[in-house]
Amino acid sequence: MAIQILPPQLANQIAAGEVVERPASVVKELVENSLDAGASRVDIDIDKGGSKLIRIRDNGAGIPRDELTLALARHATSKVQTLDDLEGILSFGFRGEALASISSVSRLTLTSRTADQSEAWQAHAEGSEVALKLMPAAHPVGTSIEVSDLFFNTPARRRFLKSDKTEFTHIDEWLKRIALVRSDVHFTLSHNDKIVRQFRPATTDSQYLQRLAQVAGRGFADSAVKVDCQHDGMHLGGYLQSPSLGESVDCNYFYVNGRLVRDRLVNHAVRQAFAQFASVEQPGYVLMFSLDPHQVDVNVHPAKHEVRFHQARYVHDFILQVLQSALSQIQALPIQSALQ
Ligand code: ADP
Ligand code: MG
Repeated sequence: MAIQILPPQLANQIAAGEVVERPASVVKELVENSLDAGASRVDIDIDKGGSKLIRIRDNGAGIPRDELTLALARHATSKVQTLDDLEGILSFGFRGEALASISSVSRLTLTSRTADQSEAWQAHAEGSEVALKLMPAAHPVGTSIEVSDLFFNTPARRRFLKSDKTEFTHIDEWLKRIALVRSDVHFTLSHNDKIVRQFRPATTDSQYLQRLAQVAGRGFADSAVKVDCQHDGMHLGGYLQSPSLGESVDCNYFYVNGRLVRDRLVNHAVRQAFAQFASVEQPGYVLMFSLDPHQVDVNVHPAKHEVRFHQARYVHDFILQVLQSALSQIQALPIQSALQ
C-alpha cells in the first residue's frame, strides 16, 4: 500500500482506542472537562452501565456558540497554545482529543451556554459526522454532554464491555477518587435513574472526613492521621491510615497537582514511613502533593496516569520526612498514656 494520510474518522477512532477504553474513561474525560471549566457542581447520570447513556451536566463556564463544533474537532483545545503552556500545565486536559475520540465511537450531543449568551446551543455528532447546524436549546450556564450507544460503530470494542454492574463499578470507583481531591465540588452519580452517590461540598476538615468515610470507610476516616506540610514550594496534605487501625484499608490515592497518579516513588516513601509498624502491610492513604508545575512532566502517558518529577530524589525525601513526622506525633501518644 502507498503511504496515505488517514481519513479523520479513522484517525479519531484509532485515537479513541487509547483514550476511550470503557464507559468509565468517558466519564473521566468529561468530568475532567467540567472541572477544567471551573464547575462547582457536576451531575452524572448513567444508564445500563454507561453503554446506553452517559450524561454529564455541569455549571462551569460553558462553550461559546461559535466554538461548539470546534470543541468536537481533534487537537482542538482552549488549554494550551505553546510548548511553554504545556510545561506549566495545571488543567486536566491539554491534548484536545477527548471529545473528538468519544464522538467518533458514539452518538454525542453537546449543549452549552456561556454567561454572556441569552440562550444555549446544541451540537450533535454521530461517529465523527458532526452536524454542522447548531440548534438553540434550553440550558442554564454550563455544559451538558450526552453520550449514547458507546461503541455502536465499533462492534469489536462493544463486545469487550463487561456487565452493566461491572462497568458502573468502574465509574463509581473513578468518581470516588476525584471526589477526594475535589472536595470543593458537589458531585452526584445516578444509575438507571437512581441516585447512588451524593458528595456535598466539603470545606472543613470534618466535612472532608465525612467524604473520606463515604469513600474509604468509617474505620479509616475516624482514626486517620492528618498530614499537612509545606516546604520550598512543595505542599503535602491529606490523611494516612492510623497504624493502630487493625483492618487493611483499600485506599491508596496519590495526587500530584490535583491529578491522580501511580507513582513508585511515593509507594516506596509510604512503605518506608510505615516500616516500623509491622502490623500494617499496605497502609491506606490519600495524599495530595502540589509543586510548581514546571517541576513535573505530566505528558508521559496518553491516559496521564504517570508523572515524572524533575528532582525525584528531593521529592521522595520531602514526602518521606513529612510522613515520618506525622506518624511520630501519633506514635508519641500511646507512650504517654503508658506512663500515666
Ligand atoms: P482538552 O480537554 O484536552 O482541551 P477535549 O476534547 O476534552 O480536549 O475538549 C476540547 C475543548 O472543549 C476544551 O479545550 C474546552 O475548551 C471545551 N470543553 C469541553 N468540555 C467542556 C465543558 N464541560 N465546559 C466548558 N468547555 C468544555
Ligand atoms: Mg478534556
